[in-house]
Amino acid sequence: MRNIILLAPPAAGKGTQSEILEKEYHLAHISTGDLLREFIKKEDELSEEIKQVIARGEFVRDELMCKIIEHRLTSPDCKDGYILDGFPRNVEQAKKYEVILEKLNFPLGYVFFLKVDKDILEKRITGRRICENCGAVFNVNIEGSMPKESGFCDKCHGNLYQRDDDNQESFEVRYQTYLQKTEPLIAYYKDKGVLYEVDGSQDKVKTFQEIKLILDREMI
Ligand code: AMP
Repeated sequence: MRNIILLAPPAAGKGTQSEILEKEYHLAHISTGDLLREFIKKEDELSEEIKQVIARGEFVRDELMCKIIEHRLTSPDCKDGYILDGFPRNVEQAKKYEVILEKLNFPLGYVFFLKVDKDILEKRITGRRICENCGAVFNVNIEGSMPKESGFCDKCHGNLYQRDDDNQESFEVRYQTYLQKTEPLIAYYKDKGVLYEVDGSQDKVKTFQEIKLILDREMI
């Protein structure tokens, strides 16, 4: 079973690398951000609360996140392995996740830390545009990632939108939250001997090649 955790600051490319890994290794892609964004479409009291938490750039409660993850991991598509994109986000979640793993008899697997400097993240986050139809991601600030026609998806011509939390203010909160809560996971997983650092600031294909080199060397 191949399990991968992608650990990174906001907009470091977790989603992009997950998609490539999903195709290359046939793993389930579990994005907690996507799961939450799906959940808040329901329009009840809890979803309204979560919507506001996300828009402020804060974290959703650990217990809820762990329930969502435990439920998702019992799906048949996870039995050969999966990529966790956005979970765990703090040491508390990492510890609770280990209890879930024990219950399901799953291994911890590999943790990749995508290292990217703050100025690059800022540029990526404020320029990120997503297709509301197919989910393809573009960036109006980065040469080579811009949509050919402004506001429309190259692949399906769907409308492009900007996430509520992809703005300067939310980015600052998200980045500070990352430093305080998520960054300690680097030491946590280093201690466990499962952490691999890769350069997430380069072209997505080059970042993936770094990950692949490690996986193909380490995976049985
Ligand atoms: P992402 O798409 O990974 O950037 O996540 C978007 C937002 O969803 C985050 O800024 C948090 O508000 C929330 N979120 C996603 N994953 C988690 C998690 N593991 N724990 C708490 N909040 C999360």
